Amino acid sequence: MKKTLITGAAGFLGSHLCDRFIAEGHHVIGMDNLITGDLKNIEHLFHLKRFEFFHHDVSKFVHVPGRMDYILHFASPASPIDYLKIPIETLKVGSLGTLNLLGLARDHKARILVASTSEVYGDPLVHPQNEDYYGNVSPIGPRGVYDEAKRFMESITMAYHRHHGLDTRIVRIFNTYGSRMRLNDGRVVPAFMGQALRGEDLTVFGDGSQTRSFTYIDDQIEGIYRLLMSDYVEPINIGNPDETTILEFAEEIIKLTGTDQKIVFKPLPQDDPLQRQPDISRAKEILNWEPKVHRSVGLKKVYEYFKSLPHDQLWESHR
Ligand code: NAD
Ligand code: UDP
Repeated sequence: MKKTLITGAAGFLGSHLCDRFIAEGHHVIGMDNLITGDLKNIEHLFHLKRFEFFHHDVSKFVHVPGRMDYILHFASPASPIDYLKIPIETLKVGSLGTLNLLGLARDHKARILVASTSEVYGDPLVHPQNEDYYGNVSPIGPRGVYDEAKRFMESITMAYHRHHGLDTRIVRIFNTYGSRMRLNDGRVVPAFMGQALRGEDLTVFGDGSQTRSFTYIDDQIEGIYRLLMSDYVEPINIGNPDETTILEFAEEIIKLTGTDQKIVFKPLPQDDPLQRQPDISRAKEILNWEPKVHRSVGLKKVYEYFKSLPHDQLWESHR
């Protein structure tokens, strides 16, 4: 039986990865310090003999006894309000955390996949973004704590591959949405849906002309799984190229939820990228992967999920 360590296991993507690897028959070790995650996301796995959970901060020394085949490093705050609130922890988990996990992978002769992001492209001057684009990131801007930590993550991962021959994979994840996102994490999908459910106006930042391309969780997990099982070492974009402006997106959510609320405009956060769309030619060619779930279908599913949450979670303010 394959043994797989997933960091960030109690978070949005990490918990769905735990489900997938359990379904694939692996023994899964979830690790998380719960800084932005929630044990509720994985409590359905606690009764399984093939699932273990370690409450641990991966920016500190990481030791896991026994054999290990795969490591997926997904621990990191991922929402702009989270990483602006805990900037040093964000820098540490992308740098020291990654270093610790690469060391662990080396000790165990395990394959390691690290979760990078479309944010390595910053506010991109190339559109759509392909993996050869080096990006346009301000190292000292507020978002730099996340973007530069992830850029360092990619650099040190490639160095371990080249220098130590470590078996590595790098996924560049574009905006992904689905169940188990925190309603109050500030990202645009839970933000707009939470506002619609509470009967509040939808807050569009800037004039809403900035674009994003949203990927449904099931498509994202499939892409990550295929990449891990491939032999491809360079970074691969996993995202849905279906691009929308944030203003159009707000209108879409109003229609979907049937809310009577209006759109209100708020200032655009500093360094908020103006456009983002993945070029997925590489994922198509190497992994034979492309997204299958249309936004209208995925958004309906996640809205049903948010609607089903206990009432107090809807009103929980940001941590
Ligand atoms: P999330 O906040 O839901 O999950 C992150 C998890 O990591 C949380 O459970 C948190 O408690 C844990 N964590 C953070 N720091 C830790 C530390 N030092 N030690 C142990 N655990 C720690 O976020 P998510 O959306 O699931 O993102 C998961 C990963 O995917 C992140 O690395 C993120 O950068 C990457 N990513 C996500 C997206 C997206 O759209 N969701 C896009 C690009 C990249
Ligand atoms: N956004 C918005 N209103 C909100 C939350 C976000 O207009 O209440 C915008 C945000 O400025 C950005 C886009 O939606 O342009 C996506 O934001 P998110 O935080 O989800 O992801 P990221 O900026 O990391 O792509």
